[in-house]
Amino acid sequence: MTIWIKGGELVDPVRGVVEESDIMVERGKISKILPRGAFLEAGPGLKIIDASGKHVVPGLVDMHVHLREPGEEYKETIATGAKAGVVGGFTSLACMPNTIPPNDCSSVTEFILSQAQKAGLARVYPIGAITVDQAGEVLTEFGDMKKAGVVGVSEDGYSVADSKLMRSAMEYARFHDLTVICHCEDMHLSAGGTMHEGVVSTRIGLPGIPAASEEIMVYREIALARLTRTPVHIAHVSTEESVNLIRRAREEGLPVTAETTPHYFHLDHNAVIGYDTRCKVNPPLRTPADVEAVKRGLSEGVIDVIATDHAPHSPMEKDLEFDRAACGMIGLETALPLTLALVKEGLFGMAEALRKLSYNPSRILGIPGGGLSTGSPADLSVIDADTEYTMKEEDFHSKSKNSPFIGVVLRGRNDLTMIGGKVVWQRDSTHIDRR
Ligand SMILES: [Zn+2]
Repeated sequence: MTIWIKGGELVDPVRGVVEESDIMVERGKISKILPRGAFLEAGPGLKIIDASGKHVVPGLVDMHVHLREPGEEYKETIATGAKAGVVGGFTSLACMPNTIPPNDCSSVTEFILSQAQKAGLARVYPIGAITVDQAGEVLTEFGDMKKAGVVGVSEDGYSVADSKLMRSAMEYARFHDLTVICHCEDMHLSAGGTMHEGVVSTRIGLPGIPAASEEIMVYREIALARLTRTPVHIAHVSTEESVNLIRRAREEGLPVTAETTPHYFHLDHNAVIGYDTRCKVNPPLRTPADVEAVKRGLSEGVIDVIATDHAPHSPMEKDLEFDRAACGMIGLETALPLTLALVKEGLFGMAEALRKLSYNPSRILGIPGGGLSTGSPADLSVIDADTEYTMKEEDFHSKSKNSPFIGVVLRGRNDLTMIGGKVVWQRDSTHIDRR
């Protein structure tokens, strides 16, 4: 089967260009990329995807999701999370280890990969836990987990409090060529807090989490990266000083990369005033000045990646008093429009947006994807950057609906997702011609 994707604007984050090109896909791979109109119509067996007025982009890569399986399948399964991913334009997802049990050994890693294979949707890349049972005491078997398929290690959901243990983890990870993804939180300093500590928490009477609880650990991880010369990736950056610390580390030439998520550049702590538990996340939504700093970090390239921290929860964990509710919001199906909003604002261009959503996370994890070039697997999405719509609860394919963007007018969405040359999802209105 040959597929011709015609009439679209191809976005190539590797070369940093947007150009009018058609793509030919054969045997799961991109076989040709030619200027628009250069292809001649071929004979029978040709499938034509009309991408007129749309952008053809490398499949999005989310390096930070929670798929909840094993253990909390009532919130999400690998299959429903992968479905939400492909609807949102993602072809690859890296899933964090804080499941029940955690992904702290090769048998859990193998289980995740077999469930992903059965789902047959997005490519799933497991992240292994740094310590056994994420208890912060004994390192896991990085080598075993790597053989089973993990692409990185993280204690996400927690920090490794013991700095000596974290140093060993980095040295061990470097030996096994695994990316260390750091959830930065001084768990003692944040204990008991439910939102950002500041004027809003004081006014509405909720216990606060100071920005310092994140920044202390960002500083420590950078110091350990300097000591061990191990590449470290700082997850979900939310404060101005975290951005400054990462900028300085980069200027020093340290192997430090970073991500943020759409909620840290679209929402601030004022969103919590109505005690909306959908806005309860960890790290918490910060001040408007922090939001500006995160955006500046993105535009300067100090923050390499936009991930989602997709964190599904059921009403059982969310329809509660604010202090009792769980942290996290879903994000796979809103990340693309929320990132395109920054392109619209002029913060960066389309190619740079795809660098942060696709090329950079692939490069940091050392996984395929992130570009559109001849010979590479045909993992791509066809997006309509201009359509405006109101996000409705029933529009989500995730099993959970904990998104504060329900009822919000968004602009831009994914229309078709192809993985390895196979169309795994398409919007009903997408036109595909079969000859
Ligand atoms: Zn985290």
